[in-house]
Formats: sequence, C-alpha cells, structure tokens
Amino acid sequence: MQRLTRLIYPPQCLTCDEMVESEGRLCPSCWSRTPFIVDHPCDACGKPLIGDTQAGDLCDDCRSMPRAWSRGRAVMLYADNARGVVLRLKHGDRTDLARPAGAWLAQAAKPLLVDGMIVAPVPLHWMRLLRRRYNQSALLAQQVAKLHRLSYIPDLLRRPIATRTLDGMTAVQRSETVAGAIVFNERRRAAIAGRPVLLIDDVMTTGATLAQCANACRRAGAAGVFVAVLARVDREH
Ligand SMILES: [Zn+2]
Ligand SMILES: [Zn+2]
Repeated sequence: MQRLTRLIYPPQCLTCDEMVESEGRLCPSCWSRTPFIVDHPCDACGKPLIGDTQAGDLCDDCRSMPRAWSRGRAVMLYADNARGVVLRLKHGDRTDLARPAGAWLAQAAKPLLVDGMIVAPVPLHWMRLLRRRYNQSALLAQQVAKLHRLSYIPDLLRRPIATRTLDGMTAVQRSETVAGAIVFNERRRAAIAGRPVLLIDDVMTTGATLAQCANACRRAGAAGVFVAVLARVDREH
C-alpha cells in the first residue's frame, strides 16, 4: 500500500515541490539555502561563533549577561530557507514538518542530554492555541522526547495571560511584556522536583520568553534548565 502511495505521490521536498528520495527531506537546493548551525556554537544560546571555537565557548552577549538557563542549542539560524520551515510549521498548518524538524532538534539537543531529563514546550496562551489549533513548540518537544526516550510534560508551564505578539519589539519591551506571563503548573510540582528540564521552542530571538520559562522551572525545584530551539535569530533588525 505504501509503495502504491509512493508511486502516485512521490515524496516531496519539505519546502518546495521538488521530488526527493524519501519523506521528510529537503532537496539539495533548499538544503543549501538552510543555514544549519554546525559545531561549536555558543554553549548558552546556540548562536554560531566566528573563528576558532571550542566546546563550551560563549558568545559576547551570553558572556556579558549570563542566561537564565545553563546550556542551549539551535538547529539553524533564522534566515533564508530556515524562515520558510519555521513559518510553514507555525502558520501554514504544516504539522507534518514537526517530525523532520523534531528529528533535527533532537540531534542538536544531544550534547545537552542528562539522565532523568524532562522535556517541555514553551506554552501558548489558550486563545492563541485555539486560533492556531496546535502549539508548534509542543509538537517539536514531543518528537525530541520520543526520539531520546525522555519524559514529556506538555503542560509543565502555562501562560494564563494573553500577551501581545512580540514581533517588532526591542529586547527591553519583550522582557517587560513576558514578565510574569509564564507560570509553573502547580500540579506538576512533584514531577519536576530535582530533575533537569529541557525547554523547547521554535524560535529564540532575545531569549526573554525562554528566560521566563527557565526561571519558573527553577523556582519550582528543577535541577537545571536547558533549552533547544529550531531557529535562532542572530541579530535584531
Ligand atoms: Zn526544495
Ligand atoms: Zn550566546
């Protein structure tokens, strides 16, 4: 049956109409336009570093202002075709992208894994969830947890207040807007006690939202917080 389906619908590139060898791949042209981050990125925010770098190095931003979490990774820079992947997953109802993108994310997060880790997504407010019908970060987190056989707790964090979209805001505005917007789900307190948490999001811009999430987890008793995102915005434009 699967073979028949393949004859009729040969697998397509994730971001264009080109045919590819197997499901969940990018064609060579789209692949070359997707800025995947290679070793060694900033150990805290996942941003690519310039020059001769070593494992554990930090970028200037993370060195001057330590992050609210311990270590972080990103699959790709939020540029060129990486934007296409993220926007399709986020607004284009392309939930099928969560599988391959989740596999990339699981690969990027590998150096961060520790025993007993809990995987949790950055939450969406229920109103936005209703409009979008799914939380793209939760779809990614689910894949990462599945591939690494880690506990997945989708409702570890909650966002009871609807915040405005952060697009176009400065770092300070972003941090003020999300302040207090994310809370720990008290029903999960027993599950998190003494365990490390891996937070998953689709895009990291300044890291303000992830910092709120990390602080909420730490206050609730997590033993360390790590973050992995699909795409990292290099610079504010
Ligand atoms: Zn393509
Ligand atoms: Zn950094």
